[in-house]
Amino acid sequence: MAKSVDQTVDVAIVGAGIVGLGHALAAIDRGLSVVVIDRGSVQTGSSIRNFGHACISVQSGAAQVHADRTRELWLRLVEEAGLWHRADGGFVVARAEDELDVLREFRARRPDRVELLSAEETAASTGTGPGVAVGGARLLDDLQVDPREAVLRITDHLRSRGVEFQFGTAARTIRSGRLHTTRGRIAADQVIVAVNYDVDHLFPELGDRYQVERCALDMLRVEIPGLRAPLRGPVLTGWSMLRYSGFAGLPSLGRVRERLHSGHPAFAALDVNQMYTQWRDGSVIVGDTHHRGDAVDPFQRENAFDELLDATASLFGQESRRDLRVVERWQGVYASAPEEFLVDEPLDGVHVVSVTTGIGMTTGLGLADRVVSEIYEPVGA
Ligand SMILES: Cc1cc2nc3c(=O)[nH]c(=O)nc-3n(C[C@H](O)[C@H](O)[C@H](O)COP(=O)(O)OP(=O)(O)OC[C@H]3O[C@@H](n4cnc5c(N)ncnc54)[C@H](O)[C@@H]3O)c2cc1C
Repeated sequence: MAKSVDQTVDVAIVGAGIVGLGHALAAIDRGLSVVVIDRGSVQTGSSIRNFGHACISVQSGAAQVHADRTRELWLRLVEEAGLWHRADGGFVVARAEDELDVLREFRARRPDRVELLSAEETAASTGTGPGVAVGGARLLDDLQVDPREAVLRITDHLRSRGVEFQFGTAARTIRSGRLHTTRGRIAADQVIVAVNYDVDHLFPELGDRYQVERCALDMLRVEIPGLRAPLRGPVLTGWSMLRYSGFAGLPSLGRVRERLHSGHPAFAALDVNQMYTQWRDGSVIVGDTHHRGDAVDPFQRENAFDELLDATASLFGQESRRDLRVVERWQGVYASAPEEFLVDEPLDGVHVVSVTTGIGMTTGLGLADRVVSEIYEPVGA
């Protein structure tokens, strides 16, 4: 057990997920002294439980601004922290004409961010089965990282640059200029609270005001022995078109929604975003369902996994889910609210920052950079 601490820093950060790490990076870049606390003995939150898909090309509004900056920062961290990554873009598989129409409309809206692919090109880039894709698209700016590796390497990298990490240390109370932890008191000019959905534990009134809920997701990692081609990048489907804001308002989207929801009621009830990323060892991350509420039901239902596995077997041209070997199952949780981001200063010098949709790997580093830029001068200003 570490002894209680009593120290003074410029910036104290609560939470060592990608959002907290992004703030630490932005602060250390400005030559500030930084301490990051996390209640876990290592990071086990959303930032290691996700697909590792920086879904840059299909955002809009503020999310697009944060995503574009996040892309720059990921590529910088690839170099500085030695992160594994894929930068061939993301891929959307269209399995019906209306999905292809959405992709054509998206291309007309964002010609710089997407290129359309033939059915053959789509299958060759995504490993989908014969006759599955009628066409597709490459999302040019998307990146893939390995979240489990990235979080640890970024932590080591920041530590080597002088950021102090205190794990196994929870925030108890937060006041202007002062953070009381389970291991002592830290005096800090600025306190940044990046605790994801647990914002309501520390600032219940903010949780209420922003209507923050917990969104729980069922995830799997599988081996697909009969996979026809490696996945060149993250793979999205028609279900993803219903989710990302960059597709919102496209004329053909309503037809896709109606067809998918009426044809696949079980999938619709599970609120699935059918998507995939492939690990370096060839295994494939499969997801994901969404259940929202104040509390997370810890009991994952097998029917959700069956639905995901059936759909995966069908997409990749396998006879049945028995052709897939499940390597891992897990539950992820992220903050969910009507607005995409919660950025507030409930007390002078205390900043609460949470990505309140499931796009923290896409936007978190850029959002953090913006928050720190608004407190201090931008780097080089
Ligand atoms: C299954 C799943 C798949 C996803 N896929 C993607 C994807 O492909 N692309 C994408 O862009 N986004 C994705 N997301 C969303 C993304 O992972 C999150 O938005 C992001 O990781 C949130 O980062 P964070 O730092 O806020 O949270 P976390 O990583 O959860 O970190 C918060 C940290 O705060 C700590 N903490 C909490 N309370 C306290 C306290 N009182 N004192 C000290 N420490 C505390 C916790 O221990 C935790 O380590 C996915 C999320 C899930 C769950």
